[in-house]
Amino acid sequence: MAALFAPALVHAQGLPPNELGRVMILEYHKIDYPEERWTRTPENFRRDLETLYARGYRLQGLTAMLDGRITVPAGTTPIILTFDDSSPGQFRYIAKNGALEIDPKSGVGILEQFIKEKPDFGRAATFYVLPGASRPNKLFDQPEHEGRKLQFLVKQGYEIGNHTLWHANLGKYDEQTVRNQVAEAQVWVQRHVPDYKLRTLALPLGVYPKNLAWVQEGTAKGTTYKNEAVLMVAGGAAPSPFSKSFDPMRVPRIQAVEKDLSYWLKHFDRNPSDRFVSDGDPSTLTIPAGSRPKLKLNLPKDIKVSER
Ligand SMILES: [Zn+2]
Repeated sequence: MAALFAPALVHAQGLPPNELGRVMILEYHKIDYPEERWTRTPENFRRDLETLYARGYRLQGLTAMLDGRITVPAGTTPIILTFDDSSPGQFRYIAKNGALEIDPKSGVGILEQFIKEKPDFGRAATFYVLPGASRPNKLFDQPEHEGRKLQFLVKQGYEIGNHTLWHANLGKYDEQTVRNQVAEAQVWVQRHVPDYKLRTLALPLGVYPKNLAWVQEGTAKGTTYKNEAVLMVAGGAAPSPFSKSFDPMRVPRIQAVEKDLSYWLKHFDRNPSDRFVSDGDPSTLTIPAGSRPKLKLNLPKDIKVSER
């Protein structure tokens, strides 16, 4: 008799919708050589995308998710990509035959190529850049192209997030310094993309300021800022954004290194009911029967809940 349940073979395809399942927010640092704790090689990054695609994951925008708009197709699982520290290997331009092109071995080059091959993977990622860091982490390290890069990201629908002006350990500073770091990151980004609002903050080193309110919203350096979510550096898969246990001020992430990534992929293969599976309709929230008490209280007003 055939096994009814073969854990290694369970993909999202065929799973019923479960919009109370958990979502992986992957955290990349360097895309470069050699592979190590904070570095993924270009080849391994490409392989991550292939693996995720084959297992029914599709790219989801972070702020759309915060807004309660899950945009991935029915039967697939949203996955969120984040890139911290704007190191050169994440996004590089090279001159080829007198023309400028995105280095196909850089993170953005690999991602764009993959999306070209698999348009139904979607296009989304958030780049937590450092506009005022010293080299090589200042806006991907090509001063002559930094504006072009930020403009490209925004035009393509990628998001730019706040990682402070120069990677300040926010736990070490007083209120004014913390506020200046957050506000000034936005001011410096806006030199290249006017009016662009940074809506989320990834904490440098995962360290919270003494008072969370300092990074949530405020005015400093002549600008008003508001962070609707604060991302940590670890913590595993995130609760569904519709769940009571989702705290936008403490959003966990998964380090995109071999060990952690394969741990979580296996976890969701073995526990398919823990996995967020979209119903394909952003205006309807489909949840397992009897799980209404797990929903957060302040759901977007225009959303309809359906138990299956
Ligand atoms: Zn960082």
